[in-house]
Amino acid sequence: MIKRLIACCILLVFSSLLTVVGKNTHNANNTKPPKNIILLIGDGMGLAQVTAGMYANGNQLNLERFPVAGMIKTHSSSHVITDSAAGATAFSCGCKTYNGAIGVTKDKKNCLTILEQAEKSGLATGLISTSSITHATPASFIAHVNSRTEMEGIAEFFLQTELDFLVGGGLEYFNNRKKDQRNLCTELTKKGSFVSDFQVKNLKDLTPNPQKPFIWFSALGEPDSVSGGRDYLPLAAKMAPDFLKKRSEKGFFLMLEGSQIDWACHAKNGTRAVDEMLDFDAAIGEILRFAEADGNTLVVITADHETGGLALEQGEGFEVLDLEFNTGYHTATMVPVFAFGPGAEQFGGVLDNTDIYWKMAKLWGWVPEVTGAAAVQIDTKTSKRN
Ligand code: MG
Ligand code: ZN
Repeated sequence: MIKRLIACCILLVFSSLLTVVGKNTHNANNTKPPKNIILLIGDGMGLAQVTAGMYANGNQLNLERFPVAGMIKTHSSSHVITDSAAGATAFSCGCKTYNGAIGVTKDKKNCLTILEQAEKSGLATGLISTSSITHATPASFIAHVNSRTEMEGIAEFFLQTELDFLVGGGLEYFNNRKKDQRNLCTELTKKGSFVSDFQVKNLKDLTPNPQKPFIWFSALGEPDSVSGGRDYLPLAAKMAPDFLKKRSEKGFFLMLEGSQIDWACHAKNGTRAVDEMLDFDAAIGEILRFAEADGNTLVVITADHETGGLALEQGEGFEVLDLEFNTGYHTATMVPVFAFGPGAEQFGGVLDNTDIYWKMAKLWGWVPEVTGAAAVQIDTKTSKRN
């Protein structure tokens, strides 16, 4: 009797083990959709910028901890060499558009962005940049204008989509407007968003209250470079995910941009380019720390294009590089994409910049949509090649 009981118990344990193994195998075959997606964009960050930062940092970057890497083609619909507006609209809407376009198709129709889709679906949303928040890259996730130069027009879109967390420069486009006498900060405050007093110079002096959307402007116009004392990007990267997690139980979408890698390379300033790269990598470290602990967050890091045609030449001593810039503008070279978390494996190989959007949207089970009077569906295939 006892022997039979033991045999029975062994059988039970064995069969429950089989069930566990079976379940795990089943899960491994089906990608678990991420609850949160964090998209990090290094503006102008080609492989040479990444490599220069890595060797300047003792042959080490947080980027190296990402298990999946791929490459993306960056051309726009109008030029083989994209600008940041068309580059960011490819990520936010999944369509190739013309250089200068902010959240509109090549036919100048508004395309619903992944951030707007997230907000409509009840997720929390955030934008962080080291440029003005109305600059091409962040603007393409929330605004719809025909030209990136319409900064005051772009600012008005921040009243239409309830952003939960905003950190960036460009306060003057909200409260010192030339085209009208509106004070968008007052209007945002009335709507319930917490807009920081610009006199509060340091993000670290603020504790965002998750009961309200949080807005902190880092500068009137464009924030200073790292050498000018600008140091808020890693801190914002640390604050935002915890804050956004408290804002919605459904999850969140966050876009964070290292904006000035591009500007340093336009200026052909190698030292500054490395500083900006390492500032961005420090932010990546904070995001990765959150994602590792959370387990439900997909992190995708990429660039809109390379800037400067950067060549890395042997300097004095091992790991010391001479940075040579071949142009003061962007180049057509493919740029890297790195991914971590649920769904990360989808981002390996050679992709198009528009694929970044399609893969994120499909992981969340969303169908593409174009808004506006003459709504059209964007076709995956033509959007990738037109
Ligand atoms: Mg940018
Ligand atoms: Zn640029």
